[in-house]
Amino acid sequence: MLAEILDALWPRPCEICGQPSDRPGRHVCADCLNRLPFVPTDGCCRRCGRDAVGLDGEFLCEDCRVRRPAFDRAVSVLRFDGVARDMVNAFKFRNHLWLRADFADWLEAAARTRFRVGEIDVVMPMPSTLWHRIDRGYNQCAYLGRVLAKRLGLPYDARTLRRVGSPRRQGGLTEEERRENVVGTFACRRRVVAKRTSAKSPTVLVVDDIMTTGSTLSECAATLKGAGARRVWCLTLARSFRA
Ligand SMILES: [Zn+2]
Ligand SMILES: [Zn+2]
Repeated sequence: MLAEILDALWPRPCEICGQPSDRPGRHVCADCLNRLPFVPTDGCCRRCGRDAVGLDGEFLCEDCRVRRPAFDRAVSVLRFDGVARDMVNAFKFRNHLWLRADFADWLEAAARTRFRVGEIDVVMPMPSTLWHRIDRGYNQCAYLGRVLAKRLGLPYDARTLRRVGSPRRQGGLTEEERRENVVGTFACRRRVVAKRTSAKSPTVLVVDDIMTTGSTLSECAATLKGAGARRVWCLTLARSFRA
């Protein structure tokens, strides 16, 4: 709260161009905002969110037809590319936590347009690995998840889902290796139950920072479904699209 008042009185420079931000309480100026590589909201795979040039509406991409991910839908806000990549990395690795207000704006807009928010029972953050917590001392997904849940008026639960063991880092692994690397690395402390909606088994919205192949989110979704979730929707700040 105090930080927000201070930001409004003495605007921080825009995270991208360094000029004073012309958007109160936000850290990306209007010009830079217009140039950010947002993922299109139309012409995306209805399951993994991959977009395809020249296709309108929703379709099921080749990857999802061959190997269906355990999550039901994944939506990403930004392409993990250029200045968007620098910004997400600064948030993730260098503690630029003030960016969460900007990020929450975009996550909220994506959640409201791409998901049926009224059907979501609970918002959960992607739990951080033990290595990450020791190294950085915070879970950036928890910051995003908490702010998003509050804005959407949804329950937030950072306790149920947890990491077990420490997988090798996913960077540099092939898709097959990534899938194997994350098997068995999530667990639920308790059953996932629907408290908010009347659905017998609940819909969970998982919030993560970067999606690459989706293997981590798929494993996470499989674990949640094993613990009672009916649907798992994923919302990530950025998506690294590989050829
Ligand atoms: Zn700017
Ligand atoms: Zn797909």
